[in-house]
Amino acid sequence: SPFPYFTLGTIVRGFGRGSKELGCPTANLDETTVENLPTAIDEGVYYGWAQLLTKTNHEIYKMVTSIGTNPFYNNEKKTIETHIMNEFTNDFYGEQLKIVLLGKIRPMKTFQNLNELTSAIQQDITAANCELNSNRCRQYLNHSFFKK
Ligand code: ADP
Ligand code: MG
Repeated sequence: SPFPYFTLGTIVRGFGRGSKELGCPTANLDETTVENLPTAIDEGVYYGWAQLLTKTNHEIYKMVTSIGTNPFYNNEKKTIETHIMNEFTNDFYGEQLKIVLLGKIRPMKTFQNLNELTSAIQQDITAANCELNSNRCRQYLNHSFFKK
């Protein structure tokens, strides 16, 4: 199993669709972080923990991460996109993000319409929330990876 998979990346700009069209902002990680992914982490939707490395906040949040080419949008480039399950009042482009992937929710697939995509995302968030409440997942909150 490729889990747990720990990585750190810089948050870059994407197409800006997450928040506007889907009501679900995703922090896109830089190209080098995408290139370093092991082949065992294939295209799909994953759950785990995320920690933004800002000066003031080192909190660890639940997250869902989509890895792939976003077939619904016919993108060519593979991306790693993390939706942090918390409401923020600000953007954090250029900041660093630590993530640990702990399991896979589903393979990547395309959808008939935006409604179907949006409801799949909501189901992914519900599934991630449920998995992350387990002791198996909660133990990673104390992992040295998240210490300064
Ligand atoms: P982009 O295509 O540039 O990634 P998105 O619409 O996906 O644009 O929005 C992502 C950006 O929104 C992130 O880079 C981050 O700065 C900000 N953001 C605000 N709240 C969140 C959140 N809960 N999870 C992820 N990113 C968030
Ligand atoms: Mg995004």
